[in-house]
Amino acid sequence: MTIEELQKWVNDDWKKNSKLKPDLQAQLLFAIEEFGEVAEAIRKKTMSGDYKQDDDKLGSEFADFLVTLVTLANTFDINLTKEMEGFQTKLAARRA
Ligand SMILES: [Mg+2]
Repeated sequence: MTIEELQKWVNDDWKKNSKLKPDLQAQLLFAIEEFGEVAEAIRKKTMSGDYKQDDDKLGSEFADFLVTLVTLANTFDINLTKEMEGFQTKLAARRA
C-alpha cells in the first residue's frame, strides 16, 4: 500500500462511518493516546525485569498510530506523498 492509497483508504473509511469521525480536538487526543500505546508496547517488548511482559502488540500499535496521523493529515488536506518528497529533497540538500 502506498502513502496515497493509505490516505484514500482512511478517507473512504471515515466517509463510510462519518457519524463516528472525531472532531479535530478528539483526533489530536487519539493521536497522542495511540503514540502512548506505541511507547507502552516498546516498554513491554524491551524492558527487563518486572517491567517486561510477553504481550507483543508493537506492530499493531504502530498501525493504530499511523491511522491517527493520516486522519489528521486528511483533515487538513495534506498530500503526504508530496510532503515526503519535499522532505527527501530537503534532506538530500542538507547532506550534499
Ligand atoms: Mg493502539
